[in-house]
Amino acid sequence: MNDSAPTMAEALGALRESLRYYRDMGMTAVPLSRPYLLTPAERLRAQEAALQGCRLCRLCEARHTIVFGSGNPEADLAVIGEGPGADEDAQGKLFVGRAGQLLTKMLESVGLDRERDAFILNMVKCRPPSNRNPEADEIESCRPFLEAQLATVRPSVILSLGSVATQALLGTKEAIGKLRGRVHPYRDIVLIPTFHPAFLLRNPGQEYKRMAWDDLKLARREYDARRRARPSPVSRTK
Ligand code: URA
Repeated sequence: MNDSAPTMAEALGALRESLRYYRDMGMTAVPLSRPYLLTPAERLRAQEAALQGCRLCRLCEARHTIVFGSGNPEADLAVIGEGPGADEDAQGKLFVGRAGQLLTKMLESVGLDRERDAFILNMVKCRPPSNRNPEADEIESCRPFLEAQLATVRPSVILSLGSVATQALLGTKEAIGKLRGRVHPYRDIVLIPTFHPAFLLRNPGQEYKRMAWDDLKLARREYDARRRARPSPVSRTK
């Protein structure tokens, strides 16, 4: 490292002083620009770049693509799935297969657009072979990347899809049928579990669809209640 570069403590001290100064001036937004503050989109791009070539777990062996996440980097809603399937692995995009088309419709049923209103991500970024469930150690290897994504997007609401994602996030073995239908705390975020769209495709009866719609309406109510006040453009960087 360059000897003349400030230490982390020095940089944080200088930042604190600057912020105090701006606050005392009566400013309510922070005029920071690169390199001090990257936009969420830039931070996500950096995280995705850093993931390339990842060999932290055995899922790297059969994957074709690392499927990072997509949508609005500043969304108030994060939708968390399990892991990429064959279509996602081939195209490098999330939820592009039949389950993805249903997910798009599910969000639309409560007036949410997946690109505009949500950031969509998976518990694991590489396809589990033969579409098996990701194993606990694979989820744990990938968890820092998921946490970094959440810390960047800072959603107010998480919609977790299916038992694998929901149980891993909540640290429970309780069945999705018991976990869904209510709001759970996840750090300072609220988490609403629902059935995975792939499960709904396998179980086409009215009963599960109705329950999923109830969950989506609950997510929409929480989303409306918790939407962040957006910072004014002066605090944004390009
Ligand atoms: N199922 C998931 O959980 N995630 C995807 O990206 C696609 C299907």
